[in-house]
Amino acid sequence: MEKQIRVAVAGANGRMGREVVAMLGKDEQLLYTGALDTRAAEEEVRARLDEMKPDVLVDFTTPHSIYKNMELCLAHGIRPVVGTTGLTAEQLDEMRKRFAEAQLGCIVAPNFAIGAILCMKFAAMAAKYMPDVEIIELHHDNKLDAPSGTALKTAEMIAAVRQEKQQGHPQEKETLAGARGANYEGFRIHSVRLPGLVAHQEVLFGATGQTLSIRHDSISRESFMPGVNMAIKAVMNLSGLVYGLEHLID
Ligand code: NAD
Repeated sequence: MEKQIRVAVAGANGRMGREVVAMLGKDEQLLYTGALDTRAAEEEVRARLDEMKPDVLVDFTTPHSIYKNMELCLAHGIRPVVGTTGLTAEQLDEMRKRFAEAQLGCIVAPNFAIGAILCMKFAAMAAKYMPDVEIIELHHDNKLDAPSGTALKTAEMIAAVRQEKQQGHPQEKETLAGARGANYEGFRIHSVRLPGLVAHQEVLFGATGQTLSIRHDSISRESFMPGVNMAIKAVMNLSGLVYGLEHLID
């Protein structure tokens, strides 16, 4: 058998973490070495890492922990697979440099569901021809960051190909603050938070006499697991940081 990849999980008791632990248990190529809580005292964290000797740390924690967790990985030569969203653009840029310098693999993916990746790709294809667009992302009401990492990544991919323009009426006025959503390079992102939802996104395009909707729904958290599994295996052969699962598929 091929050498097993040793995988620790930060956030193992969370909604996503529990799914990851279950997924690891089903793949003989992957060995779950245990949970890592980086909120513990420094010596405790170090002792835990010495004991587990993970090759990879899968991180599904909170926006507050993620940067520190990536620094920890750099310090210990562990390859992070980060699903936690909320890293700022500046933090991401800095991490890109540091992982490149360390020649250490790292994957940061705001969405591990293949359908969501396709939704982003199709949206970017459409935006080239239909530059009037709004993104509506919908998530469960325990989510800490808004807009979602997926919506931001989608917006970035759209902006890269979209002819620049400020949408809406030039004299448009919000009579209730926030009514038009967040402004991303002239187009809007709206965040819905409701119990009962998992992770959903609709990208709406409008042009003369027609509209186009591209929608993805993650109905259960299992939808993310094939992507996490793929990322764990891929990160072992990477040198530097890859942002987005779309870079790992054709
Ligand atoms: P959750 O609140 O259910 O779980 C987070 C867990 O992390 C909690 O158990 C918490 O106690 C623990 N935690 C917090 N800080 C920690 C630390 N420093 N070390 C170890 N554990 C720590 O949240 P969730 O719904 O599982 O989501 C987690 C993150 O994953 C969020 O940022 C969410 O946006 C993101 N997410 C990403 C994807 C994706 O495909 N990339 C999909 C769903 C959710």
